[in-house]
Amino acid sequence: AKASAQERICLFEDYMQAEFDDRKALENDLHLALERDEFELYYQAQVEVVTLNLRGLEALVRWNHPTRGQIPPGVFIPIAEEIGLIVELGRKILLTACTEAAKWKQPLKIAVNLSPIQLQAPNIVEIVMGILKDTGLAPERLELEMTETVLLNDRKRVFKILNDLRALGVTIAMDDFGTGYSSLAILRDIPFDTIKLDKSFVRDIALNPEAEALVRLVIDVGNHLGKTVIIEGIETDAQHECIRRIGCQVSQGFLFARPVQASKLDFLHWSDAEL
Ligand code: C2E
Ligand code: CA
Ligand code: CA
Ligand code: CA
Repeated sequence: AKASAQERICLFEDYMQAEFDDRKALENDLHLALERDEFELYYQAQVEVVTLNLRGLEALVRWNHPTRGQIPPGVFIPIAEEIGLIVELGRKILLTACTEAAKWKQPLKIAVNLSPIQLQAPNIVEIVMGILKDTGLAPERLELEMTETVLLNDRKRVFKILNDLRALGVTIAMDDFGTGYSSLAILRDIPFDTIKLDKSFVRDIALNPEAEALVRLVIDVGNHLGKTVIIEGIETDAQHECIRRIGCQVSQGFLFARPVQASKLDFLHWSDAEL
């Protein structure tokens, strides 16, 4: 029999209550997770499109939850941002990534994602400077990735922070480029070094001339501005072939490598980079 309207409302309320409880439980667990060190960094290769040499690795955090298993960053990073844990979590991530990268035999780039909230933390420049000093990582090996959403905040202040970070020698990447609200003008205005074109742009690139034209445009603009352009989300040989033809230099995607644990990095075989 069909549930009455009243019954359906009750079911809905139960559902909402369960969602709410689950969310509260995750929030509590996140606090504990920081103390218990349940976070782990995976690393995904950034490769030169023509040679397949490694350009660097992007650090991507996972949460090894004691009972729920591995939780992806898309689930817990937004919660950490909301409950005020992202600054501490982000500092730990940056420290771990720089510590690991300082041990690699090859001086590859290490790219680390920064939450907009982390970027606004009062002493972010000092934090980055301190971590570089403590780990001994050469500043030019560190690339900080951030999305266009940083621009929702006070632009003048954000630009100053980005300039101060670049003055340390680190490079700045605009992540998920093309998915935000902003226009091409940000490429002219923001102090940054690298454009990461979002994976939504390459999905149909091998099938659809319009998609190819857009990617070509971003690569041309990037080249003219002297930026490195990284195309994300390369999954097929056809997509790889296409971006090679267009003249893209660096890309990242499952075709080349999935994100792997630090301990697995030496199982990657690259033409002439040895980790
Ligand atoms: P993102 O920075 O855009 O990272 C790229 C995401 O795309 C990663 O998902 C990666 O596994 C996935 N990816 C890479 N290649 C391919 C591909 O060929 N196809 C497809 N379909 N996906 C691909 P992941 O690791 O789940 O991370 C999701 C997002 O979580 C990241 O997106 C980033 O916004 C955030 N995130 C991850 N680690 C951190 C971190 O340490 N700090 C902060 N603040 N955010 C992080
Ligand atoms: Ca990223
Ligand atoms: Ca991205
Ligand atoms: Ca993303």
